[in-house]
Amino acid sequence: MKKSHWYHYLWIWAVVYFAMGFFNILFAWLGLIDFFLPLIFAAGFGNKGFCNRYCDRGQLLRALGSQKGFSRRKDAPDWMKSKAFRYGFLVFFLAMFMNMLYATYQVFAGASNLREVVTLFWTIQVPWKWAYTGGAEPWAAQFAFGFYSMMLTSAILGILTMLAYKPRSWCVYCPMGTMTQMICKMKAGSDATRPSK
Ligand code: SF4
Repeated sequence: MKKSHWYHYLWIWAVVYFAMGFFNILFAWLGLIDFFLPLIFAAGFGNKGFCNRYCDRGQLLRALGSQKGFSRRKDAPDWMKSKAFRYGFLVFFLAMFMNMLYATYQVFAGASNLREVVTLFWTIQVPWKWAYTGGAEPWAAQFAFGFYSMMLTSAILGILTMLAYKPRSWCVYCPMGTMTQMICKMKAGSDATRPSK
């Protein structure tokens, strides 16, 4: 039996995060930790240490897929591993992220009203009114709704991919994983071209 480490329990944070956003959408802002930490790790250390150990999403997929046995444990298909799909999904994800920022800006500028919905798979709007009762500027709430939508959509995609393939197959095309990989490669390249002391 493999030894258990403290970071194997980081999946708890993923569950707590979604539960908090269910009751108060403003907690969705905490998801920025998951957004920036992998990039900081990759830029600072030039490795995927965050993905390998400290990602709550990765640990959740591991716990459900490997420990609980919900995964079919099939190899991810070649198209999913292909550069075209991984980079294409990254571009799509970033476009949706910019779209979310634009919606936030429109509320900030008074050009549109706050929309208290969570949008799944970028199209399905689920009413989520109970989760915002004030306490922040409408633009901050709009960002929270948008960010929570992206986090929940990617979590569902991750779980579906875990069920169909190997436990952490989502990590094959996770946009954060693709970006950290790009940073690590660039860093390795720049370190390699640096003159030795
Ligand atoms: S690839 Fe994405 S989900 Fe997987 S461990 Fe890295 S950041 Fe987490």
